[in-house]
Amino acid sequence: MKTRIHILTVAVALCVGLFTATAAEKKVEGGPKGGRILDKTSPKAEFYVEKDRTVTIAFYDANLKPVPAADQNVTVIADAKSGKATLAFEKNGDSLVSKTKLPDGEGYNVVVQFKQTADAKPFNLRFKLDMSLCGGCKRAEYGCTCDH
Ligand SMILES: [Zn+2]
Repeated sequence: MKTRIHILTVAVALCVGLFTATAAEKKVEGGPKGGRILDKTSPKAEFYVEKDRTVTIAFYDANLKPVPAADQNVTVIADAKSGKATLAFEKNGDSLVSKTKLPDGEGYNVVVQFKQTADAKPFNLRFKLDMSLCGGCKRAEYGCTCDH
């Protein structure tokens, strides 16, 4: 006997609308507090100057969701006109906060010495502490996202 094999071919046409993340990607990422996201940090670290001029370092995952500080170690050196000041940090909740305040004035350079873990090599991030408000993004210039 002959066996008839019926082959059913089902052709399914799938229309896949591919979403490409074309959301206008800012060139400069801003910290959620209004501060500066420090390069090369993972989780991302935000440098933010509080109203009382202490510095807060807050941490975020890739989607800028807050994550607690781990073993990061931060020192900030402010090269102010009145002289250099070194700020040490301690853990406060999920963030690191400076034990002392930034020197008066602004427009001076700061160096953030950043250690990702206790064993990691420290690296330096240097930028100008410009506290004036940017007309474009309405953030302090040191945390400006306008790429200018
Ligand atoms: Zn701006």
